Amino acid sequence: MAKIAIIYCKKVKDYSCIACAKCYKAIKNRDAEFAAYDEVDLCAMTDCGDCPGLVVPRVKLLKEITGMLDREVEVIHFGTCVKLAMETAECPIDWDDLKITLEKKFGVKVVLGTHSY
Ligand code: SF4
Ligand code: SF4
Repeated sequence: MAKIAIIYCKKVKDYSCIACAKCYKAIKNRDAEFAAYDEVDLCAMTDCGDCPGLVVPRVKLLKEITGMLDREVEVIHFGTCVKLAMETAECPIDWDDLKITLEKKFGVKVVLGTHSY
């Protein structure tokens, strides 16, 4: 059972990707990036902290609350929304740098992408 959290693009969620229905479907069917897991326990979802990419304090809060609730997150997925924002909408996140920072600082695995719909 993989205990995961998803971080979504604040500018995309509920504008061009509604209600996170695509990620919920992908988790249920273990499609795309979730195919790596036998089972998924979605512990938390939150936004990226908004532009210009204030992700690190966001993840700190996420780790604190999930830890307090005894639901320690092992993997953080950045939604396909974030991936598309980086590829097409001048998202300021420097992915390589962010991944290294989060993995070092919080001891989690960090994955870019979720569904493929
Ligand atoms: S890609 Fe996933 S996390 Fe991002 S807005 Fe769409 S359904 Fe939600
Ligand atoms: S464009 Fe990037 S930094 Fe801005 S809200 Fe979306 S994911 Fe966050």
